[in-house]
Amino acid sequence: MSDYRYRQLIDKMRRQGYRITPQRMATLRIMIESQEHLSAAQIYAALQEHFPTTSLATVYKTLAVLMKMGEVLELHGNGGEVHYDIMNPRPHPHLICVRCHRIVDADVGDALIAEQAALTQRMAHTMGYEVLGYRFDVYGLCPACREATKATG
Ligand SMILES: [Zn+2]
Ligand SMILES: [Zn+2]
Repeated sequence: MSDYRYRQLIDKMRRQGYRITPQRMATLRIMIESQEHLSAAQIYAALQEHFPTTSLATVYKTLAVLMKMGEVLELHGNGGEVHYDIMNPRPHPHLICVRCHRIVDADVGDALIAEQAALTQRMAHTMGYEVLGYRFDVYGLCPACREATKATG
């Protein structure tokens, strides 16, 4: 699954004439292999382990390319930082922890995601709107943070 996504993105970049640098390849790998939706700063920290001289601007350039290709979803966490989902660029529900700022996919299945899309269209249509995008974000405490807050009372 993740290998497929990696090859798909590299192929698309190449076809659209973008340069495929080792840093760019590593950035894609980091984003794809993470179980979380990372922020630019988190991607940068991981990238520096392999490319110590790389800059944060390099990460932002790769993210801008992915945005232009429509292959990454921007997520606004409550920590104020933008996080990125490279696995699924179409809107889908996210769970956002207000304590540790982790963002994960809500594992609800395709049927519910389709239902959400249909509801959004219906709602917009009723109000005479054309849908250009939407978000479905749930804020709360993740299981680890629920445990942590319980422990400290
Ligand atoms: Zn948490
Ligand atoms: Zn996601």
